Amino acid sequence: MRPFPLTLFGSLFLLASAPALSAAAEMQVDAPGAVLSIEFAGEVDAAVSQHIVNWIAHVADQVSMTYGRFPIAAPRVMIIPTKGKPRSNASPVPFGRVTRRGVATVELYVDVDRPIEDLYADWTATHEFSHLLLPRISWRQKWISEGFASYYQNVLMARAGQYTPERAIRMLREGFERGRHSRPEWSPNQAAEEGVRRARYKIYWSGAAIALLADLRLRELSGGDESLDTVLGRFQQCCLPAEGYWTGTQFFRKLDSLADNPVFMPLYQQYANTAGFPATDVALSDPVLRDEILRVRTSTH
Ligand SMILES: [Zn+2]
Repeated sequence: MRPFPLTLFGSLFLLASAPALSAAAEMQVDAPGAVLSIEFAGEVDAAVSQHIVNWIAHVADQVSMTYGRFPIAAPRVMIIPTKGKPRSNASPVPFGRVTRRGVATVELYVDVDRPIEDLYADWTATHEFSHLLLPRISWRQKWISEGFASYYQNVLMARAGQYTPERAIRMLREGFERGRHSRPEWSPNQAAEEGVRRARYKIYWSGAAIALLADLRLRELSGGDESLDTVLGRFQQCCLPAEGYWTGTQFFRKLDSLADNPVFMPLYQQYANTAGFPATDVALSDPVLRDEILRVRTSTH
C-alpha cells in the first residue's frame, strides 16, 4: 500500500465506494508470462485511457525486470480516476493497494488530468505491483511486505531508467533515515504490532533495509550467481499464487530453502525483534548496489 496523505483520505475514500458500480470497458495488456486485465472505474477520455494502459504495460515490464516474468499470470488492475488538487508536488497516483480475495487486483487512484509523463515518474504503481512478488504476509510482519515493495519500487524505477542510480540510492538513504528516526525504541515486529498509523516509516523502511542487506549478502556469498531477484524467481515458480497468509518466519525459511546460502532467517534473528534500525551506510555505498542492482536494463530478461 502506498502511504496515504491523511488530508486526502476523506475525499478519496468517498470515491472508492463508487467505482465497482460503474466499471467501464476492460482492456488487456501482455507482460512476460502474464496478461493483465485493466478496468476503468469511471469515464476516462479514450486517448487518456490508452496512455494509462500503455503506462500500466510499462510498469508491468518494470516488475518483470526482477526475474524475467511477471509474478502472477492473470492479475486485474483497477484504475480509479480522481481529480487531484492543483498542487505541483502532489502524486498523480495518490493511493494504491493490492487486494487478493479471489483474483489478485491492483487498485490505483489516478489523477487523469495530469500529464502522462507524471505517471511514468511516479513510484506508486511500481510499489503496488511489487507486492505481487510476495505472498500475503501476516500483518504481524508487515515490515516484510511493505519493506520489500519499498525496496523494489526504487530498484525497479532505476532499472527502467526512471531514476538514475544516484537518485535511487538517495531515495533509499532518505527512506532509511526516516525509518531510523521513527520509533527507535521499537523492533520491526513491535512496530508492525503497533500499526502503520503509529510507526509507518519504521515498518516500511526497516523492511526495505533488510531487503537490501539480503540482496547484497546473497550476491556476495554466491559470487553474483544469486540475488533477491533469483530467489524470488524460485519462490514464484514453487509457490505463487499462494493461498492464505504466511508468517514472516515461514516466508523467510522458504526463501532460505530456495537459496544456496541462507541469509533471510539470520537477518530475521538479528533484526526482527531488535529495537533500533539496521546499519545501512556500508550497503548504500557498495558498488554492487550502484553497478549491478540498479543498473539500467534494456529488456525484462
Ligand atoms: Zn505497500
